[in-house]
Amino acid sequence: MQKFAHENKQYFVGIEGGGTKFNCIIANNPEEMFETIRIPTTNPNETLDQVIAFIKESSKNTHIKAIGVGTFGPLDLDKNSSSFGTITKTTKHGWSNFDILGKLKTAFSVPISVDTDVNAAAFGEYTWGAGQETDSLVYLTVGTGVGGGGILHGKPLHGLLHPEMGHLIIPLAISDSPQGICPFHNNCLEGFASGPAIKAIWGKPPEDLPKDHPAWDFEADVIAKGLMNIILTISPQKIILGGGVMKKPGLLDKIRNNVLINLNHYVQHSSITESIESYIVPPALGDYSGRYGAVALASEIYHSQR
Ligand code: ZN
Repeated sequence: MQKFAHENKQYFVGIEGGGTKFNCIIANNPEEMFETIRIPTTNPNETLDQVIAFIKESSKNTHIKAIGVGTFGPLDLDKNSSSFGTITKTTKHGWSNFDILGKLKTAFSVPISVDTDVNAAAFGEYTWGAGQETDSLVYLTVGTGVGGGGILHGKPLHGLLHPEMGHLIIPLAISDSPQGICPFHNNCLEGFASGPAIKAIWGKPPEDLPKDHPAWDFEADVIAKGLMNIILTISPQKIILGGGVMKKPGLLDKIRNNVLINLNHYVQHSSITESIESYIVPPALGDYSGRYGAVALASEIYHSQR
């Protein structure tokens, strides 16, 4: 990635809001990045004040065209709602009912687009990454939590609210299976497969479990069952698996094999039956899917309002 030091140029802002940090980037695309910063996630006003200060400082030398935000939620994304763009009820202390869109709108007069972190990552991969050749895809992250976002007909997937694929219930064949840790559902994808779930079930964090530990067979089986349900429901043209847990060598291949076993030849398409290694893939933008996805959201709202 090359940093362009062009002053007075026009750029978008991408904000990736995470549980521990906010990544902000001033860029037009992954090849044309002006500036980036990482801000620790503390309380909402303090965090956003730092985000706003960074953008204002950067905009002294550049023109900001629009801002895109991909953040943890849940979010109110109903455009007819009076609380559109607000983080709703969250377990993250101090952030429930925080109006992230409103806070940014009071500071900037440019168009601002808000979506979930995973929809933003999906949109980043769709625009510049592993999903460029598709019309629909799902991006699932397996890390501190599990979350899924999607693109359908080229647009981020919304409905009544937004998808919560990380909480798909996972049926288990064995009666002595471990208990999941999700406080809402126990045995959901996040409750079994997130980093904290791995630590709770197997006694060690994922990075300390050897490659041949049985935890990885269980992990692959759980994620594959979740992916099977996603394939049968949304029928995406590609699935992108990101997040820290997915960096474990060998896990992606185990998941691909388990998806084939679970589907049991039911879905007959050569993308799955003959080339699953290019159907379930890692993110082409690596750890940058979310922040470039936020840039893509900014670009989309900018061009839609012209
Ligand atoms: Zn759950």
